[in-house]
Amino acid sequence: MESGYDIIVVGLGCVGLSTAYQCAKNGLKVLALEQHIESGMLGTSSHGLARIWRTSHPNKLLNEMMYKSISLWKELEQEFGEELLVTKSMLNMGPKDHESIQYILKQMKIDEEIILISLKEKEADSHVMGKEYKVLNSEEIMKNYPAIKNLPEDYIGIIDNCSGWIYSAKIMKLLSEYLTNHESVTVKYNTKVVKATKNSVTLENGDEYFGENVVLCTGCETKEYFDKKFQSEKKAVEYYIFNPVEGLPPTFHEYLPDGGIFYGTFEPDGEKMTYKIGNYYGRKYEIMLEYLAERYPTLKSKLKYGVPCFFTNTPGYEFQYKKDASGVHYAYGFSGTGFKFMPLHGEIVYNGIFGTKDLSKWKERFISKL
Ligand SMILES: Cc1cc2nc3c(=O)[nH]c(=O)nc-3n(C[C@H](O)[C@H](O)[C@H](O)COP(=O)(O)OP(=O)(O)OC[C@H]3O[C@@H](n4cnc5c(N)ncnc54)[C@H](O)[C@@H]3O)c2cc1C
Repeated sequence: MESGYDIIVVGLGCVGLSTAYQCAKNGLKVLALEQHIESGMLGTSSHGLARIWRTSHPNKLLNEMMYKSISLWKELEQEFGEELLVTKSMLNMGPKDHESIQYILKQMKIDEEIILISLKEKEADSHVMGKEYKVLNSEEIMKNYPAIKNLPEDYIGIIDNCSGWIYSAKIMKLLSEYLTNHESVTVKYNTKVVKATKNSVTLENGDEYFGENVVLCTGCETKEYFDKKFQSEKKAVEYYIFNPVEGLPPTFHEYLPDGGIFYGTFEPDGEKMTYKIGNYYGRKYEIMLEYLAERYPTLKSKLKYGVPCFFTNTPGYEFQYKKDASGVHYAYGFSGTGFKFMPLHGEIVYNGIFGTKDLSKWKERFISKL
């Protein structure tokens, strides 16, 4: 039995690492526990080399979170002396009258106003200041990106230059090392928690640890082990890695008429670049093959491998930061979009529990129950 921790953070994916990091930076005594032998293992949502970031979600809230996150990523880059956020353009394409395409178009137009507000509040940096967008018709998209074929005539493309990718594996490693070397943090990998109360956790082997607070950042495992009352869903997905061909968009989202979404990005793999394409349909190889044959025929033969993994969804795709009736804190449900907000997640969860900063602005927008 061990006690004396200000906080016990369970689950060291991107959310748990960033929460533990904020707590450590603020002088708290932290116990950080992860079931696997390291962070970002295959099977968790935070695995893999890169993640897309963008300021053109068909959702205002997510875009605002991203503007805030950009400056936090910059702070992390300074702290660790490493490039973490790479800026590249994002092609958002789909039928002109698709709800998401229309939303993005509208959002781009009003973004200027948000940028001005952010600048006034000193939350934006040069990435945001230089934000521009361009609208292309179907023919122009295929001319700009010759790897894209067979676009229907009613398609448009919205190119947003305030997007790119994040070196996800790199930041996971950096934060894990930071925590492991921090004097007020105890990190234990290969340590599975099976029970949590307001002030304690119990491990698989029966050991108990006590702390002032417990926060579960357990991703798609949350429902299985802890949060049976609140709905969350473990959704099996898959993405595919290719050797790139000429004429690919640096990053893209395609909104299909049937509601499906495909996404893609270059992904740095050491010295080499690969290209990743995934979808929001779930794990269906045939869908991907059909899609490639139609949209990216030259890429089809460049397939290297597929990667099965999981999203952690909530029914409304909302992020969950909350405390249950027994006093246990939760931060989960970040679905297919959560990585880019990693530093913000940490700030929100830390401040939600310890309440040291006035986050009322953010609270109003996306902290539901903390
Ligand atoms: C294929 C794919 C593509 C994505 N693309 C993007 C993208 O382009 N851009 C973007 O921003 N986001 C993207 N996301 C979403 C993003 O990666 C996730 O939202 C984010 O990684 C969720 O992090 P998490 O910490 O909540 O969950 P996880 O990474 O799953 O972390 C939870 C951790 O808790 C541990 N754990 C669980 N139960 C226990 C227990 N009982 N005891 C101890 N430890 C436990 C797990 O082992 C795990 O390490 C993508 C996700 C996937 C799967």
